[in-house]
Amino acid sequence: MENLWTKNLRDIEPYVPGEQSKEEDIVKLNANENPYPPSPKVVNAIKNFDCSLLRLYPDANALPLKEAIADYYNVSVSNVFLGNGSDDVIAIAFQALFNSSYPVVFPDLTYSFYPVWCSLFNIDYKTYAVDADFRIHAEDYKERNGGVIIPNPNAPTSLGEPREFVEELMSYNQDSVVIIDEAYVDFGGESCIELTKKYENLLVTGTFSKSRSLAGMRIGFAVGSEKLISVLEAVKNSYNSYTIDAVSIEAGRASILDDKYFRSTCNKIIQTRQRVTQEMRAMGFTVLDSQTNFIFVTKSDISMYEMFEYLKTKKVFIRYFSLPRIHNYVRISIGTDEEMDILLKEVKGFLK
Ligand SMILES: *Cc1c(COP(=O)(O)O)cnc(C)c1O
Repeated sequence: MENLWTKNLRDIEPYVPGEQSKEEDIVKLNANENPYPPSPKVVNAIKNFDCSLLRLYPDANALPLKEAIADYYNVSVSNVFLGNGSDDVIAIAFQALFNSSYPVVFPDLTYSFYPVWCSLFNIDYKTYAVDADFRIHAEDYKERNGGVIIPNPNAPTSLGEPREFVEELMSYNQDSVVIIDEAYVDFGGESCIELTKKYENLLVTGTFSKSRSLAGMRIGFAVGSEKLISVLEAVKNSYNSYTIDAVSIEAGRASILDDKYFRSTCNKIIQTRQRVTQEMRAMGFTVLDSQTNFIFVTKSDISMYEMFEYLKTKKVFIRYFSLPRIHNYVRISIGTDEEMDILLKEVKGFLK
């Protein structure tokens, strides 16, 4: 007989991240991680961290990190919110800002965590199809809604929309909160953080996981009006006041202060991306014009699923999504030049 208490347990389909393998010699291009280490200044901040401080709770406001981010983006500390990775920031934003009887709206091809949060928090949602070229059109978002969330650049398509796109989106959505998820913006996208000064209902989220090589540290942030930020803070402080630990405050601050290193690693990834895009196109692949640290790739005459499986046997991990519209595409993160040379060699082997 089934126990009655099991009826009280939550039944939910979770988000599935890219596989993390413990194997040493794999080429890991499946989670959009940065192939370069974090700034040496971050390494020093962690080495010099006074561990006796760990007996104390961290600053609940993580002020040293908030100040660094506020300075960097030319906003006030009261316009910055921090979380345990931007997944945490966005999950809090869904709970704090999407409380409406209208559905939350986002593109059909996008970050697959959004529908998971909607289901976790019992939020209705509706998707609008990206066009045949995977572009998002602001005029699709004219209908009354309970909130908008769009990654720009988008994932897994790698395509970015210009700032005018966000301006147009805001013109249609004066009665709901619009979130632009800028997880990949540092790889060639156009940030709309500046527009948060013009639109009180615009929230922009960012992460240290990709462009700052700190996925393992879990630092995410949002920039927006004082009104939006104060509501995010109230919700965060209703479930966990200490989402940013004491070490992350120092490491994150050090990362922001080393802008030279940040720019040089972003540029290296952009260069490598351009080279790999050209080489794959020369092999007959269709590669979308990426503004991210990954490329979205297809080839009409071969199975991308088979290529994904083949590469796995060669210890090259990329990402395949078994989803409508993109079932013959793969997403390949940009690694070091050496890693990408291995990828290109194995792809050539597969084509033979
Ligand atoms: C990676 C990613 C995030 C979240 O990353 P965190 O590591 O939680 O900061 C958010 N949105 C998109 C679109 C992403 O690809």
